[in-house]
Amino acid sequence: ATPAATMVGTTIGAKNGVLFTGGDILERTKDVDTVVFDKTGTLTEGEMELTDVVAVDGESRSVADGGEAAVDGGLASETSETSDASEAGEASETSDPNDPPADRVAGADRLTEGDVLRLAATAERGSEHPLAQAIVDGAKSRGLELAEPDEFENVPGQGVRATVGSDEVLVGNRRLLRNNGIDPSPAVETMERLENEGKTAMLVARVPAGTGDGKPEGDDGSENDNDSDGELVGVVADADTVKDSARAAVTELSERGTEVMMITGDNERTARSVAERVGIKPENVRAEVLPEDKSDAIAAIQADGRQAMMVGDGVNDAPALAVAHVGTAIGSGTDVAIEAADVTLMRDDPLDVVKAIRISDATIQKIK
Ligand code: ADP
Ligand code: MG
Repeated sequence: ATPAATMVGTTIGAKNGVLFTGGDILERTKDVDTVVFDKTGTLTEGEMELTDVVAVDGESRSVADGGEAAVDGGLASETSETSDASEAGEASETSDPNDPPADRVAGADRLTEGDVLRLAATAERGSEHPLAQAIVDGAKSRGLELAEPDEFENVPGQGVRATVGSDEVLVGNRRLLRNNGIDPSPAVETMERLENEGKTAMLVARVPAGTGDGKPEGDDGSENDNDSDGELVGVVADADTVKDSARAAVTELSERGTEVMMITGDNERTARSVAERVGIKPENVRAEVLPEDKSDAIAAIQADGRQAMMVGDGVNDAPALAVAHVGTAIGSGTDVAIEAADVTLMRDDPLDVVKAIRISDATIQKIK
């Protein structure tokens, strides 16, 4: 391609909110045969909202030590079945759906949904993750007053750990709990139900003061040691909305013959539910990918000769953007992602991914 031709393409791009960082990138983009979208903030709005709060009696794990038998008895009432999801947390303050089932030991200290939400939200106050902000906003809008956590730690790709009063609180995924010696299995059915609805479900656990050091049980990633005194107390879920044009973008890319994939740190069920809604094949979903593993996942996709465009918005996505044949950042994304990218989309519109590829296809064809 001549400098003049790539200049024209780059200018057309800029006018359409598609910023190529150079003529070489514009040329390279036409070779893209696979587009890998990050899920959160890229295919979805990234504006999470709290939808569900469920109290769980983690003590039930002692009945069968995490076996299937423990599952049924382990759940308190579920807000989404007993009341409008938007009233989660409030419902438990007024009604009392939380009486222990008759077959349970009286006085078993299952928390109310309001308690679960207050604990989770307090712990999440220090986090800037969209999942965290939705929990905090949800708690505040339900009139809960939140204390300031005494200590706070982000566990990337897993959740948060905070000291709230004399308790340590964990909010995050199954991995976070297992790594801290807490069995997530009493919440399995609840988690799966919420995830099948495309929601991100998070576990809430509490480690009472003086019963544990709260540190991971093994530094070797050992995941099933249940010798912590921490207890699972509930589940909270956030939902995100799929962007209006996400499905159209996937359709248009497929029509060009481009394979469309999704990569996310979120769990398999949630990811597949979102993929189904936008038209991405289940086998093209890479879920539960840790932040530091996203670039390896892109490298693996490219290992058999594919030329991938990775589209992402987060700090997590920067290394993957760098590894991809073409790294594309969503303009509203983090500076880190934009810096690592070859192409920046000024709008948040997934259809602009199609535009970027079309501009490259058209410009480079013309001058051949
Ligand atoms: P994504 O790739 O979707 O941006 P992350 O890698 O940031 O996801 O997080 C992966 C998973 O870790 C989330 O789906 C969630 O289960 C858990 N997680 C991460 N941060 C938090 C948090 N602040 N609170 C609760 N859970 C979290
Ligand atoms: Mg993200």
